[in-house]
Amino acid sequence: SNAKMKTFEEMESAVRSYSRGWPTIFEKAKGYKLWDIDEKEYIDFFAGAGALNYGHNNDMMQEKMIDYIRNDGLIHSLDMGTTPRKEFLERFKEVILTPRKLDYKVMFPGPTGTNTVESALKIARKVTGRDTVISFTNAFHGMTIGSLSVTANSFKRHGAGIPLHHTVSMPFDDYVEDQDEIAYIEKFLEDNGSGVALPAAIILETVQGEGGMNAARLEWLKKIDNMCKRWDILLIVDDVQAGCGRTGTFFSFEPAGINPDIVCLSKSIGGIGLPMAITLIKPEYDKWGPGEHNGTFRGNNLAFIAAREALTNWETDDFSKAIGQKAGILNDAIEAIIKKYPELNGKARGRGLMQGLAIDTYGLAGEICAEAFERGLIVETSGPNDEVIKFLPPLIIDEKGLNKGLKILDESIKHVLA
Ligand code: PMP
Repeated sequence: SNAKMKTFEEMESAVRSYSRGWPTIFEKAKGYKLWDIDEKEYIDFFAGAGALNYGHNNDMMQEKMIDYIRNDGLIHSLDMGTTPRKEFLERFKEVILTPRKLDYKVMFPGPTGTNTVESALKIARKVTGRDTVISFTNAFHGMTIGSLSVTANSFKRHGAGIPLHHTVSMPFDDYVEDQDEIAYIEKFLEDNGSGVALPAAIILETVQGEGGMNAARLEWLKKIDNMCKRWDILLIVDDVQAGCGRTGTFFSFEPAGINPDIVCLSKSIGGIGLPMAITLIKPEYDKWGPGEHNGTFRGNNLAFIAAREALTNWETDDFSKAIGQKAGILNDAIEAIIKKYPELNGKARGRGLMQGLAIDTYGLAGEICAEAFERGLIVETSGPNDEVIKFLPPLIIDEKGLNKGLKILDESIKHVLA
């Protein structure tokens, strides 16, 4: 349309104010759908990079936020006590922690994912008195220098210069075929000649989102956890993307039966896509002094309201079961595509509603996503070479929406390969 063309021209003259990946102007969104200024509909298989697990503009969250604003509730309140904050914390304990027999102190580290990672690294170093942190190949933990230092992607790291010292990258599960990565890590720890000091912590994602939807096996996670216990190393699980139900359970590590020392949550914890992060710390490691880790935007009451409302999904098992069902449909569809298009040399990756289709040919995954966008499906790539089509639909998507998105994907692949 003319309006759209005009806006593009205006945008081109501005500095990076437009998105190359999604060349339109969006206007509305509800549930798993978005609409642009031409009223074209898009199915969402991206969910705000995992920040919209409960979909766009949930009615109840909207209503409660609007009521709160109308009643002049505090919007910004640093770390002051407010009703939304208190109610979120109480609900989180009641609905999430207690039924899972987990005992954590909840800390508000700042507004985003990278803030929770920074706070986790900092407290792990403080309580152990050690400097080194082990992270993994293909890890992604955020873009501030501490988080970046445990992020494996060399493109994202090197532009910012050399990251912090005392970070060591080790092979993630299945990084080298048929190798026991845990024996390898332990060899480094035992060997005085390895140059690797006993670390304060090991930080990991159970499913690496940005790194290509690589799911660690549950037994592998259990072994890492045991190794941490043997060496008295703190285990930090970065559940910023894999948490909040993305893999089928509230915490991604639940089926592995582990109990990490520190857990990082952000993205969908804020319910409706508002910035929010929490760091869960075992009580014995909660050694912060007053003011030792602060930040202006730790008390977003609208996020607390939406976050509390989101927890109602976890009051019964139904939500979890429905995610499992849809994950099965998604997995079957990915396997069917791999069979139908052997030239993709595709591989299925991931777990729950956090799955990927890895494609051998350089650039092809991106081309398919661009074609899918034209056809009304928002889907992104991940992986070190953007070689993985990443499926991250809102968890509330229904089977109809899921199948519709998958059909667009299939047509896009057919078109690109033709
Ligand atoms: N950890 C993980 C696992 C992530 O996926 C991300 C974001 N993609 C982050 C940390 C950083 O979060 P944020 O972008 O909100 O700082």
